[in-house]
Amino acid sequence: YDMGGLDNLVANTAYLKAQCGVDKELKKRRRSLSLPKPEECTVTRAVVEKDFELLCERQPIGKLLFRQFLLESNPEFVAAAEFLEEHVDWDLEEGAGKDMARMNIINKFCKADSKSFLFHLRDEMADMCKAMTDKDFEELMKGKVKDAILGYLKGKPFTEYQNSPHFDKFLQWKEFEKQKITGKYFYEFRTLGKGGFGEVCAVQVKNSGQMYACKKLCKKRLKQKDGSSMALLEKEILEKVNSRFLVNLSYAYETKTHLCLVMNLMTGGDLRYHIYNVGEKGLEMSRVIYYTAQVTTGLLHLHAMDIVYRDMKPENVLLDGFGQCRLSDLGLAVELPGEKTVNQKAGTSGYMAPEILKKEPYQTSVDWWALGCSIYEMVAARLPFKDHKEKVPKEEVERRTLEDDCKYERETFDEGTKAFISLFLKKKIGERLGCRTKNEDPRRHKWFMGINFPRLEAGLIEPPWVPKPNVVYAKDTGDIRDFSEIKGVVFDQEDEMFFKKFSTGAVPIAWQQEMIDSGLFEELSDPNRKESSSGLTDK
Ligand code: ADP
Ligand code: MG
Ligand code: MG
Repeated sequence: YDMGGLDNLVANTAYLKAQCGVDKELKKRRRSLSLPKPEECTVTRAVVEKDFELLCERQPIGKLLFRQFLLESNPEFVAAAEFLEEHVDWDLEEGAGKDMARMNIINKFCKADSKSFLFHLRDEMADMCKAMTDKDFEELMKGKVKDAILGYLKGKPFTEYQNSPHFDKFLQWKEFEKQKITGKYFYEFRTLGKGGFGEVCAVQVKNSGQMYACKKLCKKRLKQKDGSSMALLEKEILEKVNSRFLVNLSYAYETKTHLCLVMNLMTGGDLRYHIYNVGEKGLEMSRVIYYTAQVTTGLLHLHAMDIVYRDMKPENVLLDGFGQCRLSDLGLAVELPGEKTVNQKAGTSGYMAPEILKKEPYQTSVDWWALGCSIYEMVAARLPFKDHKEKVPKEEVERRTLEDDCKYERETFDEGTKAFISLFLKKKIGERLGCRTKNEDPRRHKWFMGINFPRLEAGLIEPPWVPKPNVVYAKDTGDIRDFSEIKGVVFDQEDEMFFKKFSTGAVPIAWQQEMIDSGLFEELSDPNRKESSSGLTDK
């Protein structure tokens, strides 16, 4: 019997079963959890940064508790809270639903005789609300009216919130969030892939049941190959970004042998695999447009933080279980604040922009070039300047990139797609889509006409293709090569300090989202909840 095949089958079965949701064991473990007591939170209370945006908007549990506070504590605050909610609904509606949502807002909040009239909140709002017409509605809603509401909330409501039981609860969650993370926090499942410094495997948080991917970086290998500062940079960038279209970091911790990055689990495989290994070569246009819309939004998120990705290619675009995609592997990303540029050669052959090859200083322009190459590849299953599996020296690919015109086969590319890609493949930076003006937004291009971006960003547009739930879109475990053993590396104090610096535990926004998504937030907030006293530990 093929033992390797059997091992793989066993590994896959356990991995698929773990994804199936809450079982009895998990329920038992969850019942044994409890939040830290309020009196344990005094230090946290003293050090927590009293910033409205950070406390009430960006952190998911903070946002939820602030909203509960508004709705439950003071009738005066209720209208503002309801307005914010209906604002979101309106933003995400389309067609007739959007008209309805607008009428609703005008009638409920902007009419002086309405119970929820917002005018008493702030003087300048009264006239604005009363004067609101269909025509300037959109502009006001996204601008002055929203600003005025937020300005109001940052005053008295925010101050009162900080003295409320809701805020006490928030501090308990912040205290809980600080728990030390070790390997014991997770169950480990099969290896999903291999990186330069270690493998990536699937893991599950024992307490919540949440599945993640864990990128393990071998400490010895890092030291031997001088990869430590690169690894730290990747971690620091990952922890800063928070986008539906980027792989986000949830935990960073260490074991005796490894540094570990715990990120969104992407079970649907990478786009390179789907282009070349599933069905006919290349992807259907509906998928090309959908993935490009998501990737473009992800790139813009990075660029808005002055981060250049530098490794845009289908292989780095991973699909989740629903068929939505995220950019992964931020190992080449750099931060270039302000007008800062680099001219270091970085990227993958075939996707590198002319300015990189000519060793000229560059910024975000290189990502738009590489996106052009990636769209081309999704459509044609080859690169603009290289056939799939063509045996050709790097220098020749570079020469073609710098000198040749890109060819578009007529049977493969429709006119609109050809025009769109060629805007990204402009050799001069100043002519390239995304670079022609400061902060040019490629999402405005008519090629994206069918995509409603606010809805896409809210995860409301159904993916054109959904991975099969019982298929593991990863190489067989036996086909992922093991690492050779490393001898003769010893760690000094500086190494130990670096390991500590890397291992910061739970990342607040992602961790709080996990608590909400897994239902633990609700479970632990239940005032009638009884903890089981079985003394169950996380063994
Ligand atoms: P490296 O930077 O060392 O190349 P990667 O981040 O590219 O490491 O990860 C190595 C491999 O692990 C990837 O090619 C992919 O197959 C798999 N992988 C990485 N991140 C994830 C993830 N979030 N979900 C699922 N698989 C992943
Ligand atoms: Mg990689
Ligand atoms: Mg990398």
